This record gives sequence, structure tokens and C-alpha cells, in this order.
Amino acid sequence: MSEQSIRPTPPASEIGAAALRTIPSIHELVESLADDGWTRRVPRAVIVEVTRDVVARFRDSLSASSSSLDARIIAARLVHEVSCALEREERLPLRRTINATGILLHTGLGRAPLGEAAVDALADAAGGYAPVELELESGQRGRRRHVVERLLQRLTGCEAAAVVNNNAGALLLTLATLAKGRNVIVSRGELIEIGGSFRLPEVIEAGGALLREVGTTNKTRPTDYERAIDDTAAAILKAHTSNYRIEGFTASVEIEELVALGHSRGVAVIHDIGSGVLTPEHAALLPAAEPDARTSIAAGADVVLFSGDKLLGGPQCGIIIGRKHIIDRIDGNPLMRALRVDKLTLAALGATLQIHQDFERARREIPVLRMLGVSIEHLRSRAGVLVEQLSAIDGIADVQVEPSQAFLGGGSVPAQAIESIALRIRAEECSAGQLATLLRTGEISVVARVQSDSLLCDLRSMFDDDDGRFIEAVRGALGG
Ligand SMILES: *Cc1c(COP(=O)(O)O)cnc(C)c1O
Repeated sequence: MSEQSIRPTPPASEIGAAALRTIPSIHELVESLADDGWTRRVPRAVIVEVTRDVVARFRDSLSASSSSLDARIIAARLVHEVSCALEREERLPLRRTINATGILLHTGLGRAPLGEAAVDALADAAGGYAPVELELESGQRGRRRHVVERLLQRLTGCEAAAVVNNNAGALLLTLATLAKGRNVIVSRGELIEIGGSFRLPEVIEAGGALLREVGTTNKTRPTDYERAIDDTAAAILKAHTSNYRIEGFTASVEIEELVALGHSRGVAVIHDIGSGVLTPEHAALLPAAEPDARTSIAAGADVVLFSGDKLLGGPQCGIIIGRKHIIDRIDGNPLMRALRVDKLTLAALGATLQIHQDFERARREIPVLRMLGVSIEHLRSRAGVLVEQLSAIDGIADVQVEPSQAFLGGGSVPAQAIESIALRIRAEECSAGQLATLLRTGEISVVARVQSDSLLCDLRSMFDDDDGRFIEAVRGALGG
């Protein structure tokens, strides 16, 4: 080996040819992995596929790489790389991740974490059967919506409720039922895009309705709506501009006024309130004013729509509440079959809504509400403990505690900053970007923000009881 390593570097083409001969065959590699016991843990076909991928990558890296090659070293290196790749294959395709981004409802990280009661309900229903369409008292066939309808009536004062896959689906289904081929009147100031792929005009089009824009970007008045109501108008849609605000010289029309107008002219009023705030006391927890379902129903909206996995703190779903004769029509639309939710969603949603009946309990038990309410002093004291533990890890160059800003969501809920605390971490031998990658892909996965030369871990979006695992993750990433 020493003799090889002092040889001058041969030209690229030569490296390729010589090196290729020293690569063991796929068969040899797989056999040696089988001897290591891998065939008991991973199907042979997977081992072969992963080995082929690793060898192909190694071949591709060759022409540009080393001058010295030793068959045994190459074999050992490939076996090691395949073993690492197989260890990753053994992980669940979707694993729990520590969210250190400071974004509490991160769409890329699955939005709201469920409360414990909802997790238990989910697990209970998941492992067995659950009567999603069976009325147990009568033994007759039931409607899926009945599982949670009573709770939604009690919480919001609505006459009836239905649940679909998400809020985009809720709006699609509502429009397809009430306004197919007819006009839907929307203020120009509310033609929003949310979270990248939800664009109101496109959802309206997909629902088969025709968008009738009224007003201007900053000002829309009752008369603008009034003039747009004609024989082709089926509904007025008010959409909450969840993730942006127009400031200064503005005017919009409140839901009460739209209801008065719509009802006097015979068109339905639909209110997309977005983030699933149920009541005024729920809204009072938030950093900015948000519409709530109870107030909107009390104002007379015919249909109110919201997501289950934003500020409600439940599973992904879209909730449709409102007048019974309209919900019955929506529930009877054949599209409902394509958008319906399963027993897992109903179980988790039901348990989450039960918690909301006692608001103090909701503040304690629904993770997003709890995280929102944690004091800066508490975050600071956690940070103090974490700094000591992090500083003791080999490979850490520096850790600082600093004020930061957390956010409710990435473009789907109000954009106001929430005061928070972050750890600014620098490693000795890798860049902030490399450390971020190691943490994301480690045995315990952590997603954090890279800011200039350091990694920023915001404590507001991290569970208190994840702190131990967080330390373990950093230790693992730095090879400790
Ligand atoms: C988030 C949001 C949506 C989209 O909801 P999904 O549940 O993500 O489909 C629609 N309208 C408003 C106002 C929203 O805030």
C-alpha cells in the first residue's frame, strides 16, 4: 500500500481502468454482507439493489479521485457504505423529527402535532375496526360525518358539519355543490395563494364555478358585491387572507354585511376562515386577530370552512360547517367519495374536538397551543441546560443563546413573529450546512435553520421532552 501511495498520479483514463478491476463483484459484496447477518434483517433483493447503487456511485467518483487503490481497502469501504445504506433502509419511511425551525405549523413537517389523547385514539382505532359508517345503537348504516358532527355543533353552534381530506378539498366540494357553472363573487383583495399550491382562483375553477372578482386590491365595498349579484350568481365567498395583510388605505366588507346582502338576494355566503380557530377565546391566544368559526356561524354564514391541522391542532382534514340543508347537499355530492376521510382522521379529530370543549385543557394539551403559550423565561432556562450539555460534546466549537423569532406557520397562518429563544451552534470541523445535513439525516432527525456560519435551533417549536433526544442527535451527528 505504501508503495502504491507514493506512485505518481496516473492519467484519468488509466485510473478508471485500473481501479475498475479492483472493485469486487456485486455477488462477492452481497455474500460478505450476508455473512454479516444482513440477510436476516433486509430482503436479499434490497441488499442487491442497494449494493448496485453504492458501487455505481463509487465508479462514478473514480476518474476524479485517488491515485492509489487497494482491492481489500476498496472492498472494506464498499461493505461499510452498503451497511450504512442498509441501516437507512431499515428506518421507517416517515419518522418523527425534532422541529427546531421555530415554525410551529410547518407544512413540510406535517403541520400540527397531535395531543396525547388524539394519539391514543388514533392508535386505538388504527389497530382494529371502528364504526365510521355504522350507527351502533340501531345497527343501521350511518354517515361518516356523524362521528364528529355533534361535537362541532356544540363547539361552533352550527346546524350540521362534514369532514373531508383538507380545506382545499372542502372549498372545492362546496363550490362544486353550490356554484357549478355559476358565479362566485370574491373581493380582489382576497384572491390569495396559500402555502404555494393553494391558489383561490384555481380552486374555484377546479370546482367548476366562475370567478367574479369585485372591488380592488386594497378596497372592496358592499356596493361592489351588490352590483355583481345577478341571475348567474350562486355564492359570495369571503376568504381569510391568512398569510398576508394589506395596510394603510383599505376597506373590506365584514361577514355580517355579506350575510345580510346575500340573504336578501338569495345567494349563499361561504366563509373560508382558514386556520381552524373555533371560538373567540381560542382566537384570543393568537398574536393577531383571526376569524373564528363560532362568530362566523353566529353572523349567519351559510357555510364555514377551515383546516383541521392548523390552529385547531388536529389531523389533516377540511371541516365544513353550516346550514343543514346545505351540508346535506355537500355530503351527498358524488365528489365526497373522493375526498372522504378515514377512521384514523376521524378518531384523531374526534379526540381533539373533545379536548376543545374544555378550553383550559386545550391550552395545556394541544401542542401548538401549549407551545404558543410557553414563557420566554421557560425557554431561556431550557436553553441554559442545553448549552451546558452541548458544550461538553466533542466537535462543538461554540454555542450561544440568543433571542429569536418563531412563527405560527410557513405561509398558511398568520405571519406575526412570536418572541422566542434559539441556540446558535457552530461545529469545529464542519460547516453549518454540513451540520444541518448530518442532523436531518441522523438516527434521530432534527430540522433546523442555517444562518450565515451557524446553525440556529429555535426552542419554541421543540417539545420540552425532546431536549434529551436533541442532545443525542447532535452527539450522533458529530460522531460521538
Ligand atoms: C390554509 C388555508 C387553506 C388551505 O387549507 P389546506 O387544509 O391546507 O388545504 C385554504 N384557505 C385558507 C384561508 C387557508 O388559510
